[in-house]
Amino acid sequence: MIIAIDGPAASGKTTVAALLADRLNYNMLDSGSMYRAVALLVIEGGASPDDELKAVEAAEKVAESMRFVSVGEGEFRLSIGGRDVTMDIRSQEVTEAVSPVSRLAGVRAIMAESQKRIAGADAVVEGRDIGTVVFPDAEEKFYLDAALAERAKRRYLEEMRKGTALTLEKVEADIRNRDKIDSSRELSPLARAQDAVYIDTTGKGIGEVVDEILGRIRGRR
Ligand code: C5P
Repeated sequence: MIIAIDGPAASGKTTVAALLADRLNYNMLDSGSMYRAVALLVIEGGASPDDELKAVEAAEKVAESMRFVSVGEGEFRLSIGGRDVTMDIRSQEVTEAVSPVSRLAGVRAIMAESQKRIAGADAVVEGRDIGTVVFPDAEEKFYLDAALAERAKRRYLEEMRKGTALTLEKVEADIRNRDKIDSSRELSPLARAQDAVYIDTTGKGIGEVVDEILGRIRGRR
């Protein structure tokens, strides 16, 4: 069974999806990390995030050589061509380049194709267009949301733990900007699928959200 989870930046999708996959013993696919890996290769190659030719080359490399390795407790590492990029794809430079790269038609086509191939039969897949475009027939669909101020605070605390010097205002502005580009792009914009269950996670703990999703899935089966 495919469980699709979409939602805006920092809405808790990755953590929720990883814990859910652990509980169900399913594969977990963080599609955002694939787009981040493409952005990383584009930047490192010295190209602009709007350079479709270079971005498509990077997307092909990511699709051909990426490996997700679960290291337990909802944590996983991503490697491209044998290089561990888990930390590098979370840098501020990548965060700023990823939405422009993700607008490109050639990149999206390669990513969607590769996501369908690697998810397997039983997977929790999270992103922006999973329930609408990549897996429109997913058996279970959820849309996670939270107030912008809370999403910014969560991401800011993560950044502080990593030791970055970003301010709360900068983190909030980045999230707002990314959401704007992601939801207004022409191809596969961030959107709630008509049949997705909407969950507002504002003020809720991660465990509570995971239990709510599991409860809804079990209730329907
Ligand atoms: O999930 P995360 O915030 O790491 O995703 C990074 C970026 O990747 C998003 O802001 C979006 O531009 C892009 N993305 C996408 N489609 C997906 C997943 C992520 O366009 N399915």
